[in-house]
Amino acid sequence: MIILTTGPMFSGKTETLIKTAIDLENAGAKYIAIKPTIDTRQAGNIIKSRASNRSIKAVSIDPFQADQDIISLIQAQKFLNIFIDEIQFFDKFSLLATITYLSIFKDMNIYLYGLNFDYKNKIYDINNYLIGIIDLKIDLKSECYLCGCAAEYTKRLIRSDKEIIIDDNIYVAACQEHK
Ligand SMILES: [Zn+2]
Repeated sequence: MIILTTGPMFSGKTETLIKTAIDLENAGAKYIAIKPTIDTRQAGNIIKSRASNRSIKAVSIDPFQADQDIISLIQAQKFLNIFIDEIQFFDKFSLLATITYLSIFKDMNIYLYGLNFDYKNKIYDINNYLIGIIDLKIDLKSECYLCGCAAEYTKRLIRSDKEIIIDDNIYVAACQEHK
């Protein structure tokens, strides 16, 4: 089973990931959580929720060789569940190959979390590729920074052409009208 959870920043993706992982653990199921090394907001090997301050252990891996690194982690230990955070930072073909392998050959439950749109309001490619293979898609929304309406976009408050800037303070969630 492959479940994709997407949404803008500040929509509770990480909190949802942590809650799902803790629920599995309480039910006696083993899981592994993966995050890309590019996400420098959290020190150490954890995924932490800004909303609740809760955290779980995670393994940081190079997002450009996810296939090699994730598959060797899975082969070292038997996990039935895998969480992958911030999927938009991974090389899409490497990640797709990994997901397909783990789903078909290892029969794992795969929980994916990532941004829906980039700061130019363009859908992250990986989401388009995943549509054909996922079993369930969950769209989370935030609140618009201006009007408080349901927000599905992430807006950058500074001008920059840099593709990736990791800093929560320069982004807000925005609705269709205020994106
Ligand atoms: Zn708005």
